[in-house]
Amino acid sequence: MKKLLAALGAAATMSLTAFSAGAQTYPERGITIVVPFAAGGPTDTVTRLVAEAMSKDLGQQVIVENVGGAGGTLGAKQVADADPDGYKLLLYHIGMATSDTLYRNLPYKTLESFEYVGLVTEVPMTILAKKDMAANTLAELVDYAKANADKVTVANAGIGAASHLCGMLFMSSIGTPLVTVPYKGTGPAMTDLLGGQVDIMCDQTTNTTKHIQAGTVKAYAVTTPKRLDVLPDVPTTTEAGLQGMEFGIWHGLYAPKGTPAEVVDRLSKSLQVALKDENVKARFAELGTTPSPEADATPAALKAKLESEIARWKPVIEAAGQFAD
Ligand code: ASP
Repeated sequence: MKKLLAALGAAATMSLTAFSAGAQTYPERGITIVVPFAAGGPTDTVTRLVAEAMSKDLGQQVIVENVGGAGGTLGAKQVADADPDGYKLLLYHIGMATSDTLYRNLPYKTLESFEYVGLVTEVPMTILAKKDMAANTLAELVDYAKANADKVTVANAGIGAASHLCGMLFMSSIGTPLVTVPYKGTGPAMTDLLGGQVDIMCDQTTNTTKHIQAGTVKAYAVTTPKRLDVLPDVPTTTEAGLQGMEFGIWHGLYAPKGTPAEVVDRLSKSLQVALKDENVKARFAELGTTPSPEADATPAALKAKLESEIARWKPVIEAAGQFAD
C-alpha cells in the first residue's frame, strides 16, 4: 500500500487526507510491536512490560511479535516494509545504530525508513560465563580466554546484537579473537550458557540479573561507571581492569516511515505514560535498569540519539574490521 500511494499522485493526497481523519480515532484495533530477537530475551522482556502499560493507555491490545535473526535487522526490515498506519511498530536497541556500519547491504535505510516514537530505556551489560568456568575474576577470565582462544566459545544474538557489540569490544580489548556462536536472541543463548554448552556471554541485565543473583552463572563485570544496586558484588569493567568497555544498551520505539504525525505523537504520549507506570518502574528496577525520562521518550530525542550513536560506533566498528553482507 505504501508504494502504491507513492505512485498515485493526486489520488494519494486524497488517501492521505482520509488517513489523517483516521489518525484522530487511532488506535481502532490492536497494535503489534516487533521485537527483532527471540522470545524470553532482554528486548522481549523490556517490550512486554512497556506493551502492557501502553495497552492500558491506548485502550487497545499491544501485542509483541518476535522476529529474530541477523542481529535484529530482519525484524527491522519487516517494520520498514509495513504499512505506515501505526499498527506495526519496532522496538530495537543500539543495534539500529551499529548495524548501519556493520552491514554492507542493509535491507532498509536506517535514517530514512522509520519515524521515531521515543527512547525507552538504557540497560547495562554484564560479562558472564557458565557456572563451572574456572576463572573467578575478569583478569582470570582474560588469561583463560587468551590461553584457550581456539576453544573458548562466546554466545551472541548475531551481528548487530548488543551481545555481539560487547563481545567484539571484549575481544578487541584483550587482543584475542574467540569462537563466536550466534543465536536468534540471548534468550536461547542464556539457556545454553546455563546448560554449559557455551562458555561466555555478554548480555543485558534485563536478562542476566536473576541468573547472577541465583548463582547459576558467573558474573565478572558490569559495563556501567558505578556498580548496580541489584548486583552490588559485581565490579565495573573499569574496576575489573578492562578499559573502553563502559556503555549502555539504549532502546528506541520506531514506526514505519510515513506514519501520520498525529499517530506518532499519540504513540509517544503513550510511551511516556507507560514509562511512568508503577509496574514498569518496579520491574525495570529489579532488572537493573531505569525508564528513559519523559523528555527522551520523544521523536526528537530518539532521532538525535540514533544519529549520534551511528557516529560514535562507526570508527570503533571500522577499526575492529568485522562486517556482514
Ligand atoms: N537484545 C537481544 C535479545 O533480546 C540480545 C542482544 O542484543 O544481544 O535477545
